[in-house]
Amino acid sequence: MKTFFKRNKLKHFSAIIHNAESILIVPHVNPDGDAIGACLALKGVLENMGKTSYVIVPNEFPEFLQWLKGSDSVFDYERDQIEVENLFKKADTLFCLDFNDFDRGEDMKELLSNFQGERILIDHHPNPEVTCNLVISHPEISSTCELLFMVLEECGLTKFASKDEAEAIFTGMMTDTGNFSYNASSPGTYQIIGRLLEMGIDKDKVHSNVYHTFSEDRWRLIGHSLKEKMVIMPEYRSGYISLSKKELDEFKFQPGDTEGLVNYPLMVKGIVFCALFLEKDDEIKVSLRSKGNFQANKFSEKHFKGGGHMNAAGGSSELTLDETVKKFEMLLIEYKTDLLNSF
Ligand code: 5GP
Ligand code: MN
Repeated sequence: MKTFFKRNKLKHFSAIIHNAESILIVPHVNPDGDAIGACLALKGVLENMGKTSYVIVPNEFPEFLQWLKGSDSVFDYERDQIEVENLFKKADTLFCLDFNDFDRGEDMKELLSNFQGERILIDHHPNPEVTCNLVISHPEISSTCELLFMVLEECGLTKFASKDEAEAIFTGMMTDTGNFSYNASSPGTYQIIGRLLEMGIDKDKVHSNVYHTFSEDRWRLIGHSLKEKMVIMPEYRSGYISLSKKELDEFKFQPGDTEGLVNYPLMVKGIVFCALFLEKDDEIKVSLRSKGNFQANKFSEKHFKGGGHMNAAGGSSELTLDETVKKFEMLLIEYKTDLLNSF
């Protein structure tokens, strides 16, 4: 049988899993549907194989993912620091899912980089910068969940995946492609969805759990952002939304409430690049999205200490919110030719 992965990688992956006894699974900070879906799917498979594993998130994850099986047993480093440090002392194997740099573990960075056991990376961000015993990095695959499923399938381990794990995988595939609206043109993606349907997933229920469970405050925040805060600059084919801490508090911001908000300016005809600026306690969180060949990740690396994918990237700024917005507007002047020529 022809395999996507090199046979020695598959052998290595199988051997690590076979030998592992105490396993930690960690996603990036502010984990999204792909990060959480991959972690919980892997945890489920390992448990169905009789292995002990723990999912540890660097910080809280959105409520719209908390219906996924295993959510209630997730450790949160911000909340459960002592327990997590103890787990790191005892574990022999660490899976790093959906990130390419230990910096993305935020406060867990030291724990991740000092871990002495087997470290495995499974990720789809370009240019991995982590030291791991096994690196499965494929930026051409649209989600870590899809990549994880491919590895499990080729190692013959999907027989340990039930409907719950299949739904976790589907969640990540769906959320990282904007419900299959971008980065979702590979036939392989739909072949996997076919497999997940055979495994019994309720696709419509997953969609509804993720996208139709907004709080009223979340909708009002979106309304406020679109009516009062969205700035469209057709002369640069760009747009942005900025939200202060005061505004976020006014709408009782919860993790996940701004998920997807960054995309709205990109839905305006002609716009190819956009940003969302969120004022947090100690920094401005920057999210960037682009269409076509404008490289949001390069822009983020260069100007906002970040990275990501070509069309979806993020970073941060230590300036004030107003200064950050000004900086962005000034940068648009510098990038005007690229923006106007983007296709
Ligand atoms: P989001 O805007 O949804 O937070 O992130 C979009 C993409 O950019 C994701 O692939 C995420 O991994 C990446 N990203 C977000 N924030 C950062 C950051 O601070 N540093 C890096 N290197 N990547 C980021
Ligand atoms: Mn992802």
